[in-house]
Amino acid sequence: MVVAKMSEGQDTIVGMMKVCPMHEGAFDCNPFCRICEGEQEYEYTGFLPCNRFGHCGNNVEEDIWHEELGFCVDCSNLYFDQQLDPFTLERLENA
Ligand SMILES: [Zn+2]
Ligand SMILES: [Zn+2]
Repeated sequence: MVVAKMSEGQDTIVGMMKVCPMHEGAFDCNPFCRICEGEQEYEYTGFLPCNRFGHCGNNVEEDIWHEELGFCVDCSNLYFDQQLDPFTLERLENA
């Protein structure tokens, strides 16, 4: 019997290049992409910046980043509590 190793439990290779998660294969990132800066890939460190870049400076573990749709946990909570502007991601005053 062959035991295939699934993605869970894979060793983490720090320093390898990974496809930028902001475009997911569409290769449409531009120099303003804060993860890859238009390179379409980025150096894997295990962390990604929270999507509220400029409002929140948190780096997020990649697993969490994907789970929380690109936010850190704090911003994800704000977002799903509708306390953030969906376009600018600024915190709403009157939410
Ligand atoms: Zn990108
Ligand atoms: Zn955040």
